[in-house]
Amino acid sequence: MDEKRVLALIDDDAMIKLTQRLVQIPSENPPGEEKAVSDFIQAWLEDRGLDVEVIEAVPGRPNLIASYGSEDGPVFMLNGHTDVVPPGEGWTVDPYCGELRDGKIYGRGSTDMKGGIAALLHAFDAIRRSGVKLKGKLLLVINADEEAGGAAGAGYLIENGHVAADSCLVCEPSSLMLSTAEGGLLWLELTVRGRSVHSTLAPIGINAVEKMLGILNALSPIKTKLEAMVGLRGKPTVFTMNIMKGGTKVNQVPAECRASIDVRIPPGVEVSPYDVIDDVKGVLDRMRKADKDLRVDLSYNDPPILPFEIPPESPVIATVEQAVEAVTGAPAEYWKPKQILPTDDSDLYHWWTKGNIPGVYIGPGAIELAHISDEYVEVDEIKKAARIYALVALGELGWEA
Ligand SMILES: [Zn+2]
Repeated sequence: MDEKRVLALIDDDAMIKLTQRLVQIPSENPPGEEKAVSDFIQAWLEDRGLDVEVIEAVPGRPNLIASYGSEDGPVFMLNGHTDVVPPGEGWTVDPYCGELRDGKIYGRGSTDMKGGIAALLHAFDAIRRSGVKLKGKLLLVINADEEAGGAAGAGYLIENGHVAADSCLVCEPSSLMLSTAEGGLLWLELTVRGRSVHSTLAPIGINAVEKMLGILNALSPIKTKLEAMVGLRGKPTVFTMNIMKGGTKVNQVPAECRASIDVRIPPGVEVSPYDVIDDVKGVLDRMRKADKDLRVDLSYNDPPILPFEIPPESPVIATVEQAVEAVTGAPAEYWKPKQILPTDDSDLYHWWTKGNIPGVYIGPGAIELAHISDEYVEVDEIKKAARIYALVALGELGWEA
């Protein structure tokens, strides 16, 4: 038994058809309609004689777990998510057509990440059909709710002990480049409440918009300080004030004003989202003391997403690099800027920060094509991905000759 025998069992035509079929089953999140595609994948696995554990944090939003191999030895997880973002506007094809044209499969979720799921399933099945005696357990976890935080998906599975592994691979689209780090995310929401009066009586009103301007100005030193901080491999910190809404009429002092700030903290920066929250609270407290009319509330995504980097010496990273080189014939490449995926809060975040499972993101499809109209995935990348996944699983677990 050698690796070539496993790779020879990967059925490309069936894998391409499976990708098309998965794209044709909508699984939008929001609102969280993964059930139809999840049921399809469950049946696909059960047709192959596999036991599938179905875990629902939220009724109707299944997470699937299947495994192959030995109960002794290490556990390696292949992971993907079933949900896709809603199609939005601007499509020139039916977003759920799954059409194959010029080596590309089109549709919402083709790149993020139904091409990746098809590659995972076929890699897993090729290993199973080869009958290889793994020296550990290969875990396949296909979860819901990646696009909206993971509370019904990876976050739930890891926090409740449903998943444990020594290493993992997540098939997030990356044009088959590796990513092992992710930025932190903090969304600050400010609400100022004032007192509305007719403009001619402005001195006895409390102007929520003007109060908000004062607050945003007072926060600008925090913005300046943060934006001077550069993280891992040159990735900048971001503190950007993106929404301000207040007032209804030109002749009325506004009673309410809301503002939203998007804070992104790359790994390697010596400040955490919690420090930023404390700094903002400190400014608000000082301003409240100085202004008895100021009524401002702060809320944020709690807990915020913390930045992380998988330790570069983690063996799974070298295993993935070797597999990429073996399949593509070229040295493995890292996501640019190096290794840091442009998205935040993907499932590797939950596996690593809550379950201590080191892993790598690598998948077919370009992340730039995710979440836009006319999303597609290249068939050639799906074929390579399946072979990379099979080799990584064999490499991480080892097998009896
Ligand atoms: Zn994704």
